[in-house]
Amino acid sequence: MIEINTKENCCGCYACYNVCPKQCITMKTDNEGFWYPDIDKDKCVNCNLCEKVCPIVNPVQRNESLKLSYAVQNKDDAVRLSSSSGGMFHLLAESIIKQDGVVYGAGFDKDFSVKHIRINKIEEIQLLQGSKYLQSGIGNIYKQVKKDLKENKQVLFTGTPCQVEGLKSFLGREENNLLTMDFICHGVPSPMIWGGTTRQ
Ligand SMILES: Cc1cc2nc3c(=O)[nH]c(=O)nc-3n(C[C@H](O)[C@H](O)[C@H](O)COP(=O)(O)OP(=O)(O)OC[C@H]3O[C@@H](n4cnc5c(N)ncnc54)[C@H](O)[C@@H]3O)c2cc1C
Repeated sequence: MIEINTKENCCGCYACYNVCPKQCITMKTDNEGFWYPDIDKDKCVNCNLCEKVCPIVNPVQRNESLKLSYAVQNKDDAVRLSSSSGGMFHLLAESIIKQDGVVYGAGFDKDFSVKHIRINKIEEIQLLQGSKYLQSGIGNIYKQVKKDLKENKQVLFTGTPCQVEGLKSFLGREENNLLTMDFICHGVPSPMIWGGTTRQ
C-alpha cells in the first residue's frame, strides 16, 4: 500500500485513486488545498497496485530515441490570441476531433474550480484553451481515457507533466491511439486560492 511520508513524494496525479480496484482511496486536501491519497485500510486488500502505478515510486521509462524539437505557433491570429502561448493545443485538438477522436484537458467548472473534462466537438475546444493557474481535479478521468482507448478512439490527453506521467503509469503500456501533450510547468497553485473550493 502506498505511503506518503513526505509531501514532496506525491504530485497529486490521481493514478493510485484511479487504479484501486476496491475504491478505497479518497483524494483529500491538506491544509494548503492540495490533494493527497488517503487509504481506507479496512477496505484495502494489499494488492499494491497503488504503489505500482505511482510515477514517483516507479518513474515512467522514456523512449530516449525521440529527441526532435520543433518551434511552432498557430497561424490563426484569433486562435493564438485566445490561447496562453502559441495555440498549438488548438491545432492538435482540432486534428484529433476531425478524426472522430476525443480530447481531455483542464476546464473551468461553473464555480470556477478547475477539473479535467472530455470533449469531442470543435466548438468545445475553447473550454480547454488558456492556462488555468490551479491544480486541476482528475477524478476518474484516467479510467475514461482507458475506455476510449479500448474502443479504438484516437485520444489526445493534455495536462501537467505530472498528470501525463500519472496517466501513463495508470495505463502501464504504450498505446498507439494515445497522444499526450504537457507543457512547461513550474508547479500548480492550490485550488484553495480561489475561494476555498477543492472539488475533485
Ligand atoms: C499550472 C501551469 C503552470 C505553468 N508553468 C509554466 C512555466 O513554468 N513556464 C512557462 O513558460 N509556461 C508555463 N505555463 C504556461 C504553459 O506552458 C502554456 O499555457 C502553454 O504552453 C499554452 O500552450 P497553448 O497556447 O498551445 O495552449 P492553451 O490553449 O493556452 O492552453 C490549453 C492547454 O493547457 C491545459 N491546461 C490549462 N490549465 C491547466 C491546468 N491547470 N492543469 C492542466 N492542464 C491545463 C489545457 O488542458 C489545454 O491543453 C504554465 C501553465 C499552467 C496551466
